Amino acid sequence: MNNPLITRGISVGHGIAIGPVFLYSPKRIEVEQTQTDNPKLDLKRLIEAIKLSTAEIEDLRKASLRQIGEKDAAIFDAHKLILNDPDLLEKVTRYIHGDNFSAEYAWNKAIEEYAELYRSLNSSTMVERSADVQDVGARVLRKLSKDYEPGIHPKTPSVLLCDELSPSDTASIHPDTILGIICTKGSRTSHSAIIARSLGIPAVFGIGGVAKDYQHSENVVVDGTSGDVYFECSDALIAEMSKKQNEWQKKRSLSQKNKLEQATTACSKTIRVLGNVSSAEEVKTALENGAEGIGLFRTEFLYMNRIAPPSEEEQYEEYRRAVELANGNRVTFRTLDIGGDKAISYLDIDKESNPFLGVRGIRYSLRFPKVFAVQLRAIMRASKSGLVSIMFPMISTLQEWHAALKILGEVIQDLDDEGVEVAPDVSVGIMIETPASVMNIRDFLKEVDFVSIGTNDLAQYVMATDRNNPQIGSLATTYQPAVLKMIKRTISAARDVAKPVAMCGEMASDPEVTALLLGYGLRNFSMNSSQIPDFKQNLRTITMESAKKLPDKVKGYMTPAQVKDAIT
Ligand code: PEP
Ligand code: MG
Repeated sequence: MNNPLITRGISVGHGIAIGPVFLYSPKRIEVEQTQTDNPKLDLKRLIEAIKLSTAEIEDLRKASLRQIGEKDAAIFDAHKLILNDPDLLEKVTRYIHGDNFSAEYAWNKAIEEYAELYRSLNSSTMVERSADVQDVGARVLRKLSKDYEPGIHPKTPSVLLCDELSPSDTASIHPDTILGIICTKGSRTSHSAIIARSLGIPAVFGIGGVAKDYQHSENVVVDGTSGDVYFECSDALIAEMSKKQNEWQKKRSLSQKNKLEQATTACSKTIRVLGNVSSAEEVKTALENGAEGIGLFRTEFLYMNRIAPPSEEEQYEEYRRAVELANGNRVTFRTLDIGGDKAISYLDIDKESNPFLGVRGIRYSLRFPKVFAVQLRAIMRASKSGLVSIMFPMISTLQEWHAALKILGEVIQDLDDEGVEVAPDVSVGIMIETPASVMNIRDFLKEVDFVSIGTNDLAQYVMATDRNNPQIGSLATTYQPAVLKMIKRTISAARDVAKPVAMCGEMASDPEVTALLLGYGLRNFSMNSSQIPDFKQNLRTITMESAKKLPDKVKGYMTPAQVKDAIT
């Protein structure tokens, strides 16, 4: 192939990295069809390899927890579940005992079939699951063949170049030795991309071709913000990009230094910055990064990767801990938002051909009121330990809101009858993530205590695009005028009646759109903890006077590109 000067891929992790190339091409373990004359021994070897792999995954999870957070580390719980899936073990046992296949061949065959099943479902989420299955499969095969991967350990700090990275590979990366990541394959929403972002490493995925075609480059520049990769670097280019990198690093260190300062604009207007978390532990991280409370506690992660729902007691412990760790700041618990791409096998949702339009969020909770009531009891009990809000996801009708409120009322009454103390000031609100809730926003606002805009789903439902489908994902950008109009309408309606309105989707942390949102009147922004320091730093450069001019400026624009041009 030609030696491309610049290649553009998908921007996965922001920032600039410059350094020598470290080509990582993990050896594929070739497994030939071999028979065993001692099936008992082969099964024993396999079970031993599974045990060793489970322990290794457990270590990886623990080691990465602090760096990438509970939500992302949960990927390894999923790996453990795959590894210990009884159906998988039964199949392999059949191959070993029934067909006399060797442990290696039997395992590989079963894993390939498992992965193929996910791939054939033709959804990007399922394709990611198949990558997880293969990752786990390779781990066990290495144990069986006693072939230990050398791992990603360059001698000097380098830019990692590879075709694909498994989630395990990514989690084992250390930002001190890996300056940037370039993958020829991969998408923005893959598990590896999520981990790379959490690690704060500049990364570009999906540049095309094969990694070894690019390896002759000695120095490479990765611009993770634009998605550009420079493989042939003149001195002038290196100098220019080093300058950009310096500015970026300076901004980064300044934002780290000032992360606990109040969030204010250049003209001293105070804004509230909150954290999005998925576990009590992460509340601590959010506060350490400068959050003034939790705007979104995604409770569904408590329900995932297990075989039965968490008990009331287990949930109470987690919620109480979260409230205590918030140290007097408010924690907004979003009730179970399951369905869509977040499937839970034991929660009895029938197979749906359109899960994002099916029994999701509040729709699930209202269908299974017992599961819902257990969660509400746990949250209400935790409320006496601090400041708590409850938020219902995926609300589209007032009836749903009334039904959810009725169950909450019954839960509060029951707790009262039992003499259990709860806080009197729990506020109850809804997420605005369906077009129907926006169209009826004024009716909702007569009854709810607050609203929070979930732009990830709002964009997908307004634009009728699957948020996980990379082929049409760009249609679902929040820069689409139709999405912006929905957001503006929601904020204006809430401000008219002086009810709190927050935003907790990814858009809340997009620096390019902060001024426009301020101009629309948004004052509460909730985001992943790692994004808070940069958000606050950017805020310090914006004046309300300039922000207020932006809504008028974008009014007549019809394309996301025009909108972007007008506001940046
Ligand atoms: C959203 O939809 O914007 C949101 C915050 O919820 P989630 O990403 O969990 O669906
Ligand atoms: Mg959502």
